Amino acid sequence: MKAAVLYGKEELNIVSDFDDPSIGESDVLIQSKHVGLCSTDRSLYRGFVPFKPPLIIGHEIAGVVENLGKSAKDLDVGDHVIIPPVYPGCEDENCPACREGLTNRCKNSVFIGHGVHGGDAEFIAVPSRYTFKIKESVPLDEACIIPDAVSTPFHALKSRSIPPHIIQNTSNHGKLFERQTHWLKGKNVVVFGIGGVGGPTVNLAARYFQAKNVLAVDIFDNKLEFAKKLGATHTVNSKTYFEENNIAINELSGRDKAKAISGLARHITSHLAEDKFQVDCVLDCSGVSDTFPVAVETASKNRTIIQVGWPPKPVQEFLNQKIMDKYLTINGTWACPMNEMKEIVEAVEASTVDLNLLVTNKDYTLDSLENAIHDLEAGKILGRATLSIV
Ligand SMILES: [Zn+2]
Ligand SMILES: [Zn+2]
Repeated sequence: MKAAVLYGKEELNIVSDFDDPSIGESDVLIQSKHVGLCSTDRSLYRGFVPFKPPLIIGHEIAGVVENLGKSAKDLDVGDHVIIPPVYPGCEDENCPACREGLTNRCKNSVFIGHGVHGGDAEFIAVPSRYTFKIKESVPLDEACIIPDAVSTPFHALKSRSIPPHIIQNTSNHGKLFERQTHWLKGKNVVVFGIGGVGGPTVNLAARYFQAKNVLAVDIFDNKLEFAKKLGATHTVNSKTYFEENNIAINELSGRDKAKAISGLARHITSHLAEDKFQVDCVLDCSGVSDTFPVAVETASKNRTIIQVGWPPKPVQEFLNQKIMDKYLTINGTWACPMNEMKEIVEAVEASTVDLNLLVTNKDYTLDSLENAIHDLEAGKILGRATLSIV
């Protein structure tokens, strides 16, 4: 089969004779139709993340069922499907994490396009129980971003945004997590970094979880304009703020830096003045370590910060007393448990997620994958890019 194979750092070859995957009894063979481009693909390509070559990359996959193993359930040849990028690898989901319902944190997690071959190829084989059917009315060149770019912020917003004291002191806990009565409904959310994950975060917070205000922070005006289209009610360009106030943030340290950071946080929250400066949830999707101290300053007391983007290095000179004083909940998040995938598919089918806005580039193919990676690093892709495979 035709496949995009990484043979080493920056050695990406498009080959036409890679072995077709074989399927086990409970597996399904999927013809990969469209695959989303993620910054993880770029990290693998540049050798920032270790991997065992040869590796077919690509982990945001939408395709069509080609063949089924004998005991594969609930699917038929020709069904349109999506595959989660991370699924449990343990038998019967019986590791400690799976037993707690954290199938996204399985001890033996399988990471498609990293630990095993991915979807930038004509075919891929996966267990049928982790293959999710999607209506044919959802275009596959948009559906492919659901498994990662949409499901990661979905899980963060749905399950990681609620402060523990609210959960403990509410008699009907379940309702806090249901869409129509979700805790975020009518609340104020701040999102740092409007990239491939920050965009869907804004869209989901505004449209699906029905936050009252969603404020987007970035250093590029075109990304902030994009955030407005996705549902942001307010935007702040942090770079412009520092420039207009003659603050050379990178040259500051100690108290001066702390003062500059709290000034930016006050500037951000002043946009929500009509709501008495309340910021209920801050999501850091920036992938930049320096954002974290700003997030801590921006979040209101007794509220939540979620680390959604991967921070590349430790935070320097950070005053962590603030976390204690503000009684903050700092939550990590990782992919999406299997039991939430169905709800995401339903949200997309009900058009409460604007996939058509989130996918901004559909012209790449398997042959132009390397160009797509270069365009991604050059900042030429505003939302998410998807590749056509066949
Ligand atoms: Zn990804
Ligand atoms: Zn497990």
